[in-house]
Amino acid sequence: MDRDGIINIDYSYTYKIDEFKFVPYIFELVNIFALAGYKIIVVTNQSGIGRGYYTEDDFDILSEWMVGEFAKKDITISKVLHCPHLPLDNCNCRKPNIGMIEQALTIFDIDLGSSWMIGDKQSDIDLARNASIGTSIAIGDDNIKNASLSFDTIEKMVQYLQLNKGIL
Ligand SMILES: [Mg+2]
Ligand SMILES: [Zn+2]
Repeated sequence: MDRDGIINIDYSYTYKIDEFKFVPYIFELVNIFALAGYKIIVVTNQSGIGRGYYTEDDFDILSEWMVGEFAKKDITISKVLHCPHLPLDNCNCRKPNIGMIEQALTIFDIDLGSSWMIGDKQSDIDLARNASIGTSIAIGDDNIKNASLSFDTIEKMVQYLQLNKGIL
């Protein structure tokens, strides 16, 4: 799953704990996947590091806190992967490139075809396609193309999964 705009409200280049506001129903959503046996992995573009807006340490501190907030609710985030580069760097890890998925595959045994990618940008959905992730979910933006399913909000996605339990 993506982070900014999915786990937290996207205010652009969020790196401070006190500016990190969880999106409503995100804990419910992640818990549905966790209870269904999915491993939860965050893949997030963080060009704010490459731009010098914040540091790797800032990112790590925020990530550790964020994972801890899920842990308080007995939800395990298995890994937070990030790309610190600028678009101009042409790295292999900035979504929609698949470097972070390749990294995840070195750590975990993942069936990509049975995996879901949840994001709020075209690059998230394109990542899913590029990495052959089976199901891609677009949240919030009507203009995103090629998603398997689209929802206006995380709350709407939670409602959908509660009504369609077999889909997982
Ligand atoms: Mg996002
Ligand atoms: Zn990168």
